[in-house]
Amino acid sequence: MAGAPPVGAREPHGTVHGDDLARLQRSLLEWFERHRRPLPFREDRTPWRVLVSEFMLQQTQAETVAPYLTRFLARFPEPAALAAAGEQEVLALWQGLGYYSRARNLRLAAQRMVQSHAGQVPDAPEDLRALPGVGPYIAGAVGAFAFGRETAAFDANALRVLSRLFDADRAGPDLAQAVLPRGRAADWNEALMDFGSLVCVPRVPRCAICPVADLCLGRRAGRADRLPVRRPTPPRPEVAICALVLQDDTGRIGLVQRANRGLLAGMWECPAMQGPPLPDAVAAEHGLRLHGPPLALPAFRHVFTHRVWTVRGFSAVGSGPLRWVGVAELGALPLAGPAARLLAGAIPGFPK
Ligand code: SF4
Repeated sequence: MAGAPPVGAREPHGTVHGDDLARLQRSLLEWFERHRRPLPFREDRTPWRVLVSEFMLQQTQAETVAPYLTRFLARFPEPAALAAAGEQEVLALWQGLGYYSRARNLRLAAQRMVQSHAGQVPDAPEDLRALPGVGPYIAGAVGAFAFGRETAAFDANALRVLSRLFDADRAGPDLAQAVLPRGRAADWNEALMDFGSLVCVPRVPRCAICPVADLCLGRRAGRADRLPVRRPTPPRPEVAICALVLQDDTGRIGLVQRANRGLLAGMWECPAMQGPPLPDAVAAEHGLRLHGPPLALPAFRHVFTHRVWTVRGFSAVGSGPLRWVGVAELGALPLAGPAARLLAGAIPGFPK
């Protein structure tokens, strides 16, 4: 081992010394040059484009994000356009990506940029971090990708790869920052993302094709596939939901809007209530009249971060105080995920 100071996980696990770290960086960057994924958000990197893509990439796979990013930036090519838009339109464009607080925060961040930063994404790290919804990951990614700063973008891939390479129970942002190769932060951040998606994958890492297997301390310790150590997750409570896909005599669909705070705030959904599968009770709760017997739809589970809905849906023809929307107009409304799934199972022509 070289005399350079060691970098890496704390005892009792290993460390990687200076020369090995340089070899590790070089090998991963060379691998990246050969295997870089041509993702659309990596092209034409304006600060606004980087910021929007990083908001979307939190909690969502890169491949899923691409078409959303194209649509979103076509409608909101600069912060001022998003700042001036209504929340419902923004949520509708975000529909399908989930975690809608990201969309709300991005709109608030755009408004802050218009008010305080001349409509531009701020360059200073402290200004970036002060924007709604911008945490350490987004600030690091925007700093590196948009402004050429020496900042780590510590996402789930980096956590997994670094935990394994350095045999750490759970690598942290400090380690990610310590192993950044000078002058190559943007490439290095992307290299860890791609390497974590293609080689050092969750569950069963592909060590047999790994270009840095001989340097991997987690592999040497025989526990790479168990890293990072999972945090115990509290059990998610199961909530039974009964919902009505109600159509009027002309085929329009009846929807209600959720409250402006809390789960799925402001989204539109089918009339529903917590409790056993009793469509008449749902109709009574919402002041609706059913014009015929309701038909049961396939049940499904919808998993949120902190709870699970078990949804029992029924389709029926009826009337009452709902917002009645033609099938063709549904795309303009931000639909809650469970409602979109119910409608897909009940309405011919509704996109799956
Ligand atoms: Fe990941 Fe295996 Fe390579 Fe270690 S040897 S970095 S666990 S793929």
